[in-house]
Amino acid sequence: MCSGRVDLAFVLRALSNGMDGVFIGGCRLNECNYSTHGNYHALNMVLLCRKIMEHIGLNPERLRIEFMSSGEGILFAEVMSEFGNKVNKLGPLGKAEGIDQKELKSKLAEITKLVPYIKLVKKEKLASRLENPEEYDKLFTKDEIDRLFSEVISYHIDPGKCQACMICAKRCPVEAIISAKNQVHVIDQEKCIKCGTCFEACPPRFGAVAKISGEPVPPPIPEEARVIARESKEK
Ligand code: SF4
Ligand code: SF4
Repeated sequence: MCSGRVDLAFVLRALSNGMDGVFIGGCRLNECNYSTHGNYHALNMVLLCRKIMEHIGLNPERLRIEFMSSGEGILFAEVMSEFGNKVNKLGPLGKAEGIDQKELKSKLAEITKLVPYIKLVKKEKLASRLENPEEYDKLFTKDEIDRLFSEVISYHIDPGKCQACMICAKRCPVEAIISAKNQVHVIDQEKCIKCGTCFEACPPRFGAVAKISGEPVPPPIPEEARVIARESKEK
């Protein structure tokens, strides 16, 4: 498949499954047969993932991308052999970095859950085309990645404003909104992928969905308190 199809989640899954290194091979830059130039997307994803790996204490050298044509068998063999040796030298994932295996799994799971959010907030940079290798290391900075995780946005439905119109629940791509007729809607934070669709979808006259960053999300309103009492139109 096109290297552009290699999702950030695939790399995290490989690491989570105990792979000590991940190699992605793509066609040569600017030689893509399609207008999409997916190999640039793959490059940006790798640059982002390497910074995320550093953020959680993993050696970013465990992830490598190289661009070559299908006719360059010798180059491919050389690169793979060199990368294999490097990964062997680095040693087992996590153990070599002094990270407890359980802690590493939980960090990788936490980041995997945030993949849709990360892709959304970094979509412009992830779609950029870096022509000069000197730009690679500057695409994502350490501070930016630290902030990415310290300022994660959550969404919360204000029970005092929700009118149970159900629009948000119908649009949520992962069915993370607990919805029932005439009941205040509640976001299941475990299922929510922070796409922001409910924030955009909630009619401005209700404005019930709030963005929260840097503070805890209020606990969900108890089930028995979710019914909305409406005034009868009959007099
Ligand atoms: S932010 Fe996205 S995933 Fe989360 S509840 Fe809203 S629509 Fe669903
Ligand atoms: S769209 Fe807004 S008002 Fe309607 S159910 Fe969702 S949060 Fe409540």
